[in-house]
Amino acid sequence: MGLLDQRFENGNVFITSLDDLLNWARLSSLWQMQFGLACCAIEMMAASASNFDIMRFGVIPRATPRQVDVMFVAGTVTIKMASRIKRLYDQMSEPRYIISMGSCSNCGGPYWEHGYHVLKGVDRVIPVDVYIPGCPPRPEALLEGIMKLQEKVRKESMVKKRS
Ligand code: SF4
Repeated sequence: MGLLDQRFENGNVFITSLDDLLNWARLSSLWQMQFGLACCAIEMMAASASNFDIMRFGVIPRATPRQVDVMFVAGTVTIKMASRIKRLYDQMSEPRYIISMGSCSNCGGPYWEHGYHVLKGVDRVIPVDVYIPGCPPRPEALLEGIMKLQEKVRKESMVKKRS
């Protein structure tokens, strides 16, 4: 265990709650739904590149909703696409999380007033855990959003949920 090696007599003993242990594992491995909708998705992809390296947070893209913990809704949610997003959300297993990335996904963005084809916020079809403002938000903002989500996961009680 690195720095703690041999710091205590008779080997190392850690005492923690089951919740803390499970949450630590879950927040360190938030697997991500691999899809994007519009220009915000380019920033999301940039967050995966070496400059920002989103994988150091344990965020790994998966190509199926059944294997993911979190979906980043990155881009303009057209009304045509809304039902697809809802279907993907329904296929994710619990506990599942949504990060709404950018103004379009948060509230319709530049299409708020005249975009008859755009949903005025993805939270009209699925629940959102973290909203990231901006048009587009920079990759650093997405990393901040992930850290906010990690804070939320850290405070949850998996043990209570199951009992
Ligand atoms: S918020 Fe701006 S950058 Fe993001 S998808 Fe909408 S128009 Fe594009």
